[in-house]
Amino acid sequence: MILATRNQHKVREMAELLRGVELRPLPDEIASPPETGESFEANALIKARSAHAATGEVTIADDSGIEAAALGGAPGIYSARYAGEGASDEANLEKLLQEVDAAGVDRRAAYVCAIALIDEAGHEYVFEARCEGTLLPEGRGSGGFGYDPAFVPDETGHNDPRTMAELSPDEKNAISHRGKAVRMLARHLGLEAEAGP
Ligand code: IMP
Repeated sequence: MILATRNQHKVREMAELLRGVELRPLPDEIASPPETGESFEANALIKARSAHAATGEVTIADDSGIEAAALGGAPGIYSARYAGEGASDEANLEKLLQEVDAAGVDRRAAYVCAIALIDEAGHEYVFEARCEGTLLPEGRGSGGFGYDPAFVPDETGHNDPRTMAELSPDEKNAISHRGKAVRMLARHLGLEAEAGP
């Protein structure tokens, strides 16, 4: 199966979640298409269609990001480039925390992940899931990636103050947007998914 991404963090997390499936990254010679969609679903389909057209193989692609309630859902599909094209994870996180601070008291946020699958017959499917939480004023922890150091997920429970970047990979996969969407995909494919809700 081709995994249409060059984000090494995503390849690692997907491989942990789809053990037993041979995931191949997008071959270097195939250009990544511009993400011109207006939703996670649309962008996941754009990436999957482009890789499927170029390789003819079963393809999966994900599009994901974080939505801050105080910002009306921003950065959303622009999460990877919130602080500008090619911005670092640190710069994107700093910008998000500044904007949320300036917007008031609502610190709720949610990660969203849409995974598109194009199968041998060319049929298209999309699996979408969310992970709700709150944003700390400052980041903490070195696991995960992106906005994880400031994101405290609801699903670890009110007594657990750890950020997503302080969870083990298995703990993150059990509750994350990507983990949930991959398990929906795995069930669709008739694969045994790793444990989790
Ligand atoms: P995409 O590659 O266009 O799907 O952009 C995804 C962006 O959303 C990443 O670069 C991160 O900024 C953010 N993101 C998505 N999933 C996660 C996650 O699990 N942890 C932290 N940040 C994430």
